[in-house]
Amino acid sequence: MNKTLSVSAIQNGTVIDHITSDQTLRIIHMLRLLDRKHTVTVGFNLPSKRMKLKDLIKIENHVLTNQEANEITVFAPEATINIIKNFEVVQKIITSLPPSIGGLFICPNPICVTHAEPVKSFFTVQEQGKHVQLICHYCEKTFDRNQVRVKAL
Ligand SMILES: [Zn+2]
Repeated sequence: MNKTLSVSAIQNGTVIDHITSDQTLRIIHMLRLLDRKHTVTVGFNLPSKRMKLKDLIKIENHVLTNQEANEITVFAPEATINIIKNFEVVQKIITSLPPSIGGLFICPNPICVTHAEPVKSFFTVQEQGKHVQLICHYCEKTFDRNQVRVKAL
C-alpha cells in the first residue's frame, strides 16, 4: 500500500524508488535537483519488502534522461525509476550501468591533471562483482564509487 501511495503522489514527473539508503543525498547532488530548482520530495528509511529500508525521491514535472537514470545505478543498483503522468506510471525506465560518466565528478587523486587544467572529468565505469569502480581517464587511477564527489556548479 505504501508503495502505491508514494508512487502516485505526484501528478507528473519522475519517481526514483528502492534507493539504497546511504546514497540518496549523493543522487540528489548528482542529478543537480536543487540547483535546477525542481520540486523534490524525499522519503528516507521507508519500509521495503525487497530491501530492509529504502529511500525514495520524487521529482515533480521533470523526466530524467536515460543517461541520468543509468548514472543512478552506479550508486543505487536496485533503484527503479518510473515516469509519472496524471498520477499514473506511464513508463518504467530500464537502467543499465553506463560505460562512462563525464563532467560530473571530481577526481579524488589530488595530483590529477583535471585539478590544474580546465578539462571535464571523465571516468570509465567498471563493475567488479558487487563493487562499482570508476577509472579516471586522465590519471588512470581506479576509485571506489563512494570515493568520488560530485563537482560543484
Ligand atoms: Zn584523475
